[in-house]
Amino acid sequence: MDLDEIERIDIDGVGVDCVDMATVVRAADATIAANRQCTILAVNPEKISAAARDANLCAVLNASEWLIPDGIGAVVAARLRGAEAIERVPGSELMPHLCALAAQRGHRVFLFGARAAVNRDASERLSAIYPELVIAGRHHGFVADADMPALVERINAASPHIVFVALGSPRQEQWIARHRAQLTANVIQGVGGTFDVIAGAAKRAPPIWIKLNLEWLYRFAAEPRRWRRQLTLARFGGRLLRDALTRRRHKVVVPRPPAREPYRQDSQQARLAPTP
Ligand code: UDP
Repeated sequence: MDLDEIERIDIDGVGVDCVDMATVVRAADATIAANRQCTILAVNPEKISAAARDANLCAVLNASEWLIPDGIGAVVAARLRGAEAIERVPGSELMPHLCALAAQRGHRVFLFGARAAVNRDASERLSAIYPELVIAGRHHGFVADADMPALVERINAASPHIVFVALGSPRQEQWIARHRAQLTANVIQGVGGTFDVIAGAAKRAPPIWIKLNLEWLYRFAAEPRRWRRQLTLARFGGRLLRDALTRRRHKVVVPRPPAREPYRQDSQQARLAPTP
């Protein structure tokens, strides 16, 4: 399917794109090849609920070129609203796919976020998995606002094609919205706690739970103290059920913003210049 034809379905004010993993990887590949810039943000019931209370987060999400269905909640909600070709694209699985793409194409990546040790361990782990991957730079995620311009400069100096931002939500979404116009990178993905998972500091559910779409249940059993999150999920599930029973499933397609121009500076011109 033509990437421009991919539909974005509205779920309670937040869009979600009718994509699968292969399509999002293709979109990132095409964006880099065309030297444009896109952001990839994950949508799940928690973020949809948070966006209902936070107009800024809602606007930031909807301004993203790609809004991926991060889990089964977003997929079911989109399907109930008429979406057809939509599959789960967990942000934590997309990141390794993008690393594989980068390794294959020789694209450079930058890892921004998480605690310093986690950031380092995630980087080492990725280098072990993808020996060809060029990790052009990395930085932990505990940076004071006053130091942000220097960090942005440091990221651009590393000249990455892809920047992974792991600050948790909504911090990473806000950071991306605020700084993308100053970044030369082509693809910027918000990845939440993925560095922790890669580094082995946090565990995802075992594969069988993921396959059965029960990762949410596993997380509840593993972390009952995060009951607020489960309450949000339960409320979201209740709304879905009510929509399904009352057949209030009209499809609202909202526009997707086109990819933008990345920030251009000398280092990037040098990177793009053909070798003599
Ligand atoms: N984090 C960070 N800077 C901050 C706050 C959090 O780098 O100022 C990191 C934190 O160390 C962790 C990630 O952001 O690696 C948050 O992960 P979490 O699982 O909470 O995010 P979620 O996926 O739930 O949005």
